[in-house]
Amino acid sequence: MNKTKIEYEPVIGLEVHVQLNTNSKMFCKCSIAPFESEPNTYVCNICMGYPGTLPLINNKAIEKVVKSGLALNGNINQMTRFDRKNYHYPDLMKGYQISQFKYPIVVGGEVIVNTGQEKKINLNRIHLEEDTAKLTHINNENEKPKSLIDINRSGTPLMEVVSEPEISNAEEARKFLLELHSIFTEIGVTKGNLEQGHFRCDANISIRPKGSTKLGEKVEVKNMNSFRSVVRAINFEIERQTKEIILDHKILQETRGWNESRGETVSQRSKESAHDYRYFPDPDLPNIYLDDTLLNQIRKSIPELKKDRIEFLIHHHSLNEQVIGILSADLNLFNYFKDIYKKTKTKQFDISDQDLANWITEELLKILELNKLTTKDISNVFNLAFILDLINLTNGKTINRNASREILAKMINSSKSPDQLIEELGLSNISDIDQLTDLCTQAINNNPDAVKDYKSGKDTAIKFLLGQVMKLSRGKADPNQAEVNLEKILKNE
Ligand SMILES: [Zn+2]
Repeated sequence: MNKTKIEYEPVIGLEVHVQLNTNSKMFCKCSIAPFESEPNTYVCNICMGYPGTLPLINNKAIEKVVKSGLALNGNINQMTRFDRKNYHYPDLMKGYQISQFKYPIVVGGEVIVNTGQEKKINLNRIHLEEDTAKLTHINNENEKPKSLIDINRSGTPLMEVVSEPEISNAEEARKFLLELHSIFTEIGVTKGNLEQGHFRCDANISIRPKGSTKLGEKVEVKNMNSFRSVVRAINFEIERQTKEIILDHKILQETRGWNESRGETVSQRSKESAHDYRYFPDPDLPNIYLDDTLLNQIRKSIPELKKDRIEFLIHHHSLNEQVIGILSADLNLFNYFKDIYKKTKTKQFDISDQDLANWITEELLKILELNKLTTKDISNVFNLAFILDLINLTNGKTINRNASREILAKMINSSKSPDQLIEELGLSNISDIDQLTDLCTQAINNNPDAVKDYKSGKDTAIKFLLGQVMKLSRGKADPNQAEVNLEKILKNE
């Protein structure tokens, strides 16, 4: 069969390593080493793997994994335990890593991604392990290559999230990572700093004929340290594997590293299978039992998440996607919107949800930024009742948009009502028709060329005249009313 005629589809699974933000390490009392601290200064006999030492379990790390599992709708194994993963590598101080194999803390779970349409990516498991030390390889010219080891990172609690192979392309993978990152930082289990390695991802990628249910030989790509490199590496691998298959080459099950500067993956070693690691229950550590009281307590500590806020906005309000994105991403804006919306109901205020949200996400946000304030300040500087008054005055055309912006800016440092500020700043619209006609006539008389253009059919000329009216009125004329007025005068001339 001609393989170029077959359509292929990628199958992607992700493994995300998340550094937990506990105060101390996973199995000893060392503090977590701050980024770029002096090498080998946050170490003890336990995390250096000295013989005769015994690990101590950090309960806080276990609770953070439980919290993560509950936030992702996973099932908690109420009996969980640690296993030894045996392999030799210079950054692994004991010659084995304490990880979890048969009884991970969390089984299952899900992440909803939206790439135009919603898709549920199921999780296989979330388990807890210890991080390795850090190796730095130095290859200077005219010098023997050497490797340096920093044991500070050794024993830092690391949560591993393993997805099912249900991701279909690089964009879905990116959304999956963004969603996980957002949830984990919101529930406070990690600092989530990508540059500092708090959130690292490996991708398992394979290719199969479209529609086939059998998985192809999988390739694991490591060393991707940004969401962008994950996207690039996945796209590179999809293309490479598809080409290989078309050329009738066998895809090898292997581990490949991502080379950021060359933009390609490079073969590192053949991929191990689970049985290669000779997992067995760690005899130094007891089984761990998580009772219902603890689970309930942790469940209660999970704050409302962005995904819940999105759902709330979609169900209770009629808003566009962009505004939903802005309001859901910021708890302060979200609460402000909910509060002001409630107030419109008590005052029989006639405004659409979208309009109301636009005021917050456009006008109020802009003023906050200009004054170097954050959304935390929004309810302090913008009194709900005053904002509603201001919207009323603007929609009722007592003032125009520019004037309302000026008032908003003044509200930051004033406890005065919009009415008082309009009075003080002399900002009310010119609604007196004689006054408006005067201004229009002036603009027409001062600009005979524009009038000529208008009469010869150039419609844009009226905009120029309108600009002149606005200038003469110092922004206080209502532009719609002024334009109607201008047209009326020009037609009667
Ligand atoms: Zn230690």
